[in-house]
Formats: sequence, structure tokens, C-alpha cells
Amino acid sequence: MSETSKPLNFIEKIIEADLNTGKITSVQTRFPPEPNGYLHIGHAKSIVLNFGLAKKYKGKCNLRFDDTNPVKEDMEFVDSIKADVQWLGFEWEGDVKYTSDYFDQLYDWAIYLIKEGKAYVCDLDQDETRKYRGTLTEAGKPSPYRSLSVEENLELFEKMRSGELEEGSCSLRAIIDMAHPNMQMRDPVLYRIKKASHHQTEDKWCIYPSYDYAHGQGDAIEGVTHSICTLEFEEHRPLYNWFIENLPTPSKPHQYEFSRLNVNYTITSKRKLKQLVDENVVDGWDDPRMPTISGMRRRGFTPKSLRKFCELAGVTRTDGIVDVSTLEFTIREDLNKNAPRAMCVLNPLKVVLTNYPEDKTETMIAPGHPNRDDLGERSLAFDREIFIDQDDFRESANKKYKRLVIGKRVRLRNAYIIEADEAIKDDKGNIVEVHAHIIEDTVGKNPADGIKAKGVIHWVSAKENVDCEVRIYDRLFTEAEPGAGDSDFMDSINPDSLKILTGCKGEAGLITANPETRFQFEREGYFFQDKKHSSTDKLVFNRTIGLRDTWAKIEAK
Ligand code: ATP
Ligand code: MG
Repeated sequence: MSETSKPLNFIEKIIEADLNTGKITSVQTRFPPEPNGYLHIGHAKSIVLNFGLAKKYKGKCNLRFDDTNPVKEDMEFVDSIKADVQWLGFEWEGDVKYTSDYFDQLYDWAIYLIKEGKAYVCDLDQDETRKYRGTLTEAGKPSPYRSLSVEENLELFEKMRSGELEEGSCSLRAIIDMAHPNMQMRDPVLYRIKKASHHQTEDKWCIYPSYDYAHGQGDAIEGVTHSICTLEFEEHRPLYNWFIENLPTPSKPHQYEFSRLNVNYTITSKRKLKQLVDENVVDGWDDPRMPTISGMRRRGFTPKSLRKFCELAGVTRTDGIVDVSTLEFTIREDLNKNAPRAMCVLNPLKVVLTNYPEDKTETMIAPGHPNRDDLGERSLAFDREIFIDQDDFRESANKKYKRLVIGKRVRLRNAYIIEADEAIKDDKGNIVEVHAHIIEDTVGKNPADGIKAKGVIHWVSAKENVDCEVRIYDRLFTEAEPGAGDSDFMDSINPDSLKILTGCKGEAGLITANPETRFQFEREGYFFQDKKHSSTDKLVFNRTIGLRDTWAKIEAK
């Protein structure tokens, strides 16, 4: 379906209705991450949705860090999140925003609520607070501190702010309803004492607003018209509305929830991803096996394919799990169309072409892409000695094996047809070299004797090539739902999720290629230079994805 005929999702329908009735004149959204980890594929969906809506309706989208918990936050996360949003192809409106920009305003509004008799300083400790709160089936009871006077509360809140009181000794709570069926409404906490330095406000504050108190007011200050978040916040909506109704906020945002993106064979929990990093199961947050945006970037995924995947996943209110093969498919499809071709032999086996003169070299011309003239041509040196893949030679084989076999012919891609004569072995019987001969006058032509080659294999010159390391990745988990039920997600780590191949031989042009180029190594898959491990004297490639879905076969068994 084309862009224009695609059915509207439920949020688009709401937006169009709001624009049509004049309830709003322009759309303002925001993407509000907590800077306490790296973004993952689930966040990509939220980014594509929020920035996408702003773009579609010519509105604006802010990037706002909901930075209310200094203990878990870090500038490293702020920086990585900014880079991820930009890499995905989006631009936020104006400067990056922080909830901490509004700490003064949030503090003034807390005083406002105290003066209105709608907030109090509560001395109950955590355990007591829990007991007083009641349960889902049982009403809570009012805290004994609920009836303090406005003056007493103002004085105590000032003591909280000035650092006179100990961490954990008290909190500021809203006066709502301790018997409310929605637990969120049972006098929620607005402010806590935290004697921690903050990455933005440094040591200015020793009290910090709760996420629930800050989040909706941040939206109101920014004039967010559609506050979009995931379904787990549905329960919080009445509370967010209570704040908006009880405070003189400059605007009244409305929250809409959609279901989280879940992908099978994948984890989308920052906490669990952090555990993989902390326990060195992976090589950092940007390990190419991680479902983080930085990991997928390092692996060679394209921003376009990720955006496409997020769009395909749809926007609904029903929970579901998207098949990871959909993600793999969108990447394969993009790279198939756009990745220039190259040859790289992953497990080299030397072939000596005994009828080819030792001092001769020819230059073979190969297309950059079979149907993209704009991707130009490549020149490949051809000599007496070449490398082919060990898997592409057998001493004898049945007809299904359309590669090099003794006494049989195969075409070298973009070069001659050759025929194998002899396998040279070491004392243990391993094949170390193959002797073969070229069939004269077969570059781009069939042989004069009419005996055609059955298959085509890739190769590189033994004299002119680039030595490289290739990293083959597979899914990080062997279970579709890692950690489902009582199981520990760490128990379903795929032990074969990374294979490192050294001594691979790529065509010489790879060394001078732009490191941002994503290649199809013919017959092997799609590859992208690994910036973390490559250096001037070592070229490392990550396999982004294979040419075909090999898991489909495994799952069908
Ligand atoms: P996690 O549970 O992994 O820690 P989070 O929701 O706490 O994630 P935030 O930084 O608060 O992380 O997320 C920023 C935004 O991204 C929020 O609006 C959140 O709803 C959205 N988001 C997070 N995970 C997903 C997901 N799996 N699918 C869609 N949106 C998501
Ligand atoms: Mg969150």
C-alpha cells in the first residue's frame, strides 16, 4: 500500500479528529526517555511514532529526558540517546529538553498544592507507607500526618529542601483518596529526599520529584497535545489528570497509550540488557547482537530498515509479539537493493591454476551491483593462484553439489570457468591445495567445447587481496521468549551467537572502501565494517544478516 492509502492507526485518527474539530491547531509530541540505559528496539518504535506523527502532521516533536532519578542516570546515556535519535533520522524541536529544566516550576507547584491543602509531608517509613496503602481488594487508611496544617507542611517541606532532614525520613504526598480503587490515587509521593548530585542540576537539589509527579507536568509545560506512552501507564492516567486539574498548568495534555513492541528471540528490558553488559555476556551496550539501537547500528542495520520495521509493527492497544524474522526481512530487503557487491572468502583454500602463466595477471571487471549501474564497477586481479572457500571444493560429490569437484567444471564469478585436477593433502589427509586448470576463452562466454559449468563460486586472487577478520552473529537467544514463565533468560543464551573467523581473504578494493559501506559478500551475506575492532592494520567485518532465513528451516523441523 502506498503512504497515502495506508489506513490510519488509532492515534492518527484521534489527531485528525482533533485537528478537524479545531481542538488543536498543530501537533506537539515528545519522546521522553529516562537517561538510565541505552535505547532498544522498543524505544525505536516510540521514536518512530512520536517523531513520525509530528512529521506527518507538520507539527513538532521534542526530545525530553525525564531525568528525575539522578542515582540511576548518567551523561553517557544522555549522549547515546541523542546519537540514536539522530541516527534513526529524526530531528527534535529546538534544544534538547530535560525535566530537570522544570525543577523550579515543579517545586513551586508542590508549594501551591500544600497551600491548597492538597499535599502533606508524611513521616511514615517505607514499610509503614506500604501497610497504610492497603491492597487491590482492601482500602488503605489515611496517614497520621495527613492532617498537618498548611503552615506545618510548608515548614517541613522547606526543611526537606534545605537538606536538614535525612534521606528516607519523609516524603511529600498528594492528598487524594486512600480508598480509591486505583492504587495510584492513594496519596502518591510527589517529592523524596535524595542527597545525590544530578548530571544537569549538580548539587542544587536534595529533593527530587517522582516520575509520576513530573512527567505530565513536563508535557503541560511543553504544550504537548498528544502524550503518547505505552500501556503500562494507563493506570497512571487518572493521576496525571488529577495533577493537571489541580495545578495552574499552561496547557492540558491528554495521554494515549499503545502496546509495547515485543520481538521474539529478543529482550526489550533495559534492566535485563544491563545485566548482559554487566556480566560480560556481550561486548558492551553496542555489541552487534544486542537489540539496542547502537548495537544494531554497529551490526550494519540501516536506519531506513528499522523505521520500516517499526511501521510494519503497527500501532495498537493489543499486546503481541512480532516475529524477529520480520525485522531480518526488512534489513535483507533494503541491503539487497542497496548494498554493493564484493567477494570475500571466509575459509580460504588455495587453488593453483596450472595452465595459467606465473607472470600473467589479468583485470576482471565486475559490476558494483547486478542491477544498479549507479554503483559502478570493480576491478579484480586474476592470477595463477587464487583462494576459494573450503566448502566450495570436494574431491567427489553427487549432482546436487554444483561447485568445484575433481574432473568437473565450475565458473569463477566474473572470471573463467575452471576444472579441478587434483587435491593436494598434508600427512594427516587434510586438503591443503587444489590443482586445477582454466578453460581458455571463457570470461563472460560459454566454453567452445559446449561443456558448461553447473555452478558459480566466488574467489579472490592469492596475490592481491585483503586479509580480514569476519564476525558471524546469530540470534542471542535460543528461546522465542527468553525468561518466559519461571525460567531465567540467562539460561537461553545461544552459545553460538558469535563466531570469529580470522584469515579471511577479501577482494583488494575493500581496503579503500568507505567504512560506512554495507556490502553483500557474494554468496555469504551482508557485511559492515566493525569500527570498534577495525584499525589501520586490521579490517574487521560484522555479518549484518545472512542471505536467507536459516531459522525458518530450523523452526519448521
Ligand atoms: P525499560 O522498561 O526497558 O526500562 P522504559 O519504558 O522504562 O523502558 P523509558 O526511557 O522510560 O524506558 O522509555 C521512553 C519511551 O519509550 C517511553 O514513552 C516508553 O513508553 C517507550 N518504550 C519503552 N519500551 C518500549 C517498547 N518496548 N515499545 C514501545 N515503546 C517503548
Ligand atoms: Mg519508563
